[in-house]
Amino acid sequence: MSIIIDEELCTGCANCIESCMYDAIELDNNIAKVLPNCTLCRACIETCPEEAISIEHEEVKTQEIDISQFKGVWVVAEHYKKKIQNVSFQLLSKGRELADLLQVKLSFVLLGKDFDDELEELSLNGMDEIIYIKSPILKDYYSDLYTKVITELVIENKPEIILIGATPTGRDFAPRVAKRLNAGLTADCTGLEINLETRNLLQTRPTYGGSIMATIRTPSNRPQMATVRAGIFNMPEKVKKNVNIRKIEYQFEEKDSVSKIVKIISKTKSNVNIEDAKFIVAGGRGVGSREGFRIIEELADVLDAELGGSRITVELNWLDPDRQIGQTGKTVSPKLYIACGISGAIQHIVGMQNSEIVVAINKDPNAPIFNWAHYGIVGDLHEIIPVLIQEFKKLKSEE
Ligand SMILES: Cc1cc2nc3c(=O)[nH]c(=O)nc-3n(C[C@H](O)[C@H](O)[C@H](O)COP(=O)(O)OP(=O)(O)OC[C@H]3O[C@@H](n4cnc5c(N)ncnc54)[C@H](O)[C@@H]3O)c2cc1C
Repeated sequence: MSIIIDEELCTGCANCIESCMYDAIELDNNIAKVLPNCTLCRACIETCPEEAISIEHEEVKTQEIDISQFKGVWVVAEHYKKKIQNVSFQLLSKGRELADLLQVKLSFVLLGKDFDDELEELSLNGMDEIIYIKSPILKDYYSDLYTKVITELVIENKPEIILIGATPTGRDFAPRVAKRLNAGLTADCTGLEINLETRNLLQTRPTYGGSIMATIRTPSNRPQMATVRAGIFNMPEKVKKNVNIRKIEYQFEEKDSVSKIVKIISKTKSNVNIEDAKFIVAGGRGVGSREGFRIIEELADVLDAELGGSRITVELNWLDPDRQIGQTGKTVSPKLYIACGISGAIQHIVGMQNSEIVVAINKDPNAPIFNWAHYGIVGDLHEIIPVLIQEFKKLKSEE
């Protein structure tokens, strides 16, 4: 792109020089001249009374590709200390659904070391194929080696969809691979569907700070890549079937990576495991204060539930950050979710919408949370929750 001055229209009025914050325009023989330090900010275009300034766009040449050559759904596994992360299994369950709709193979791509004895157990998770890339160095995550291996595999095998966990690791290598392949990548998806006519993956995610849900397609490029956070999809059912196992050995050495892992320091493990909780009682701003959270905690205790909350309650220091649910917190899918004094902003909903049963307590009958609730109680939570606690205690004592 470059800024173009129409010399016939330019009158040398110097408005553009005044508008330029970068001193990137001067007059040459009473005609504006753009200097190399121009940042293309376009401020000059708007100030020119003669419309003598414009921006020239170079034609972006996109390589036409034959998208019909791409077939198959891939899930890239993530592991830590030899344990495959739950998000990879959850993606296998969604991947199975997509692969069945498209009538293609579902492949699980695993980069690692020492997984040989685990492959049989892993093969119960609904995939048709495991592509096991084996190299001693791949026991740990090396971003450049993952990028290289996955890019090479994709070029050779041409999958049409690649699903990756939206974990720090996935968020690191997915864009690198997408850039190398000139592929479309949608980060942090909360929904994935297929348009069977076009075979486009419909990738839904919150956008504009979560105020709307956007559905993104990649109509003219393949593969279609998406990262998805843990807890959005269910774990797969175990099935026994014939799974093709392809082992590919890579002879990587430490010098093949620009980085060297010297030591891995695990984050002190929090005792909170809200993502796997069966029951959650969550509080919002409507709880009123840190002290007010005591009845929320009491209700959670009676129900053997985990405590959660909206972002505001974390910001107000009423709740531990590990317990925040939503777009910038945890994604949960419990059997029962009780939302107390939570309005139901979309950024909260995306973190709990997969709960089996949602109960909402809110004094505003028009609160959006009621659109997501299976049971709604309109009223003051400080009056309702003590009654619930009493009733649950009574029921428990009768058991
Ligand atoms: C980029 C971005 C990311 C975000 N990420 C998250 C996220 O991860 N998680 C998240 O939760 N939010 C997130 N938010 C914030 C989100 O937009 C909302 O502001 C937030 O969820 C609102 O929290 P709340 O429902 O507790 O509070 P409010 O919206 O203030 O709602 C309080 C509710 O309590 C009810 N109430 C008040 N008093 C009582 C009472 N005595 N009894 C019963 N009901 C009562 C009110 O009627 C109201 O409905 C994000 C925002 C942005 C811009």
